[in-house]
Amino acid sequence: MTKKVPTRKTIRHNPNAPGPVQAAQIALVLMTTAKTDNWNGVVADETLFERVELTDEQQALLEEHRGILPYLTRGGYDGTLRSIVACPACGRVMFMAQGTAPKKCSMKLACEGIPVKAKSTQEPLPKDPDAEKAKELAAAAS
Ligand SMILES: [Zn+2]
Repeated sequence: MTKKVPTRKTIRHNPNAPGPVQAAQIALVLMTTAKTDNWNGVVADETLFERVELTDEQQALLEEHRGILPYLTRGGYDGTLRSIVACPACGRVMFMAQGTAPKKCSMKLACEGIPVKAKSTQEPLPKDPDAEKAKELAAAAS
């Protein structure tokens, strides 16, 4: 038998979200991978980066927004997620435990932005347009 070469996992995050939200999503997915609830656990996992490979861009995002990472938790002692919400218009950021992002920015007076909340899970795999087409054709033929 050939020895299985360990493949490193990659993380898909939402590159269209505000920077801090991107960093938070990457950090929360890393917590899941490291089976920990907080950023300390990620930092303490010495073999994590043998299992996960970040892109240069993801690495840079974590570096740039490292100030928020220690405040994020994934199902902490009270069982709640602590994520962040950022406004793409005014750039303000706030921490948020449960629920969905507010429909309107309340972080800055008269801001018209629609805040975005960081997900704690990866982005789904992009749909393969060819596979979708094939499915449509198969459905039409039957
Ligand atoms: Zn705003």
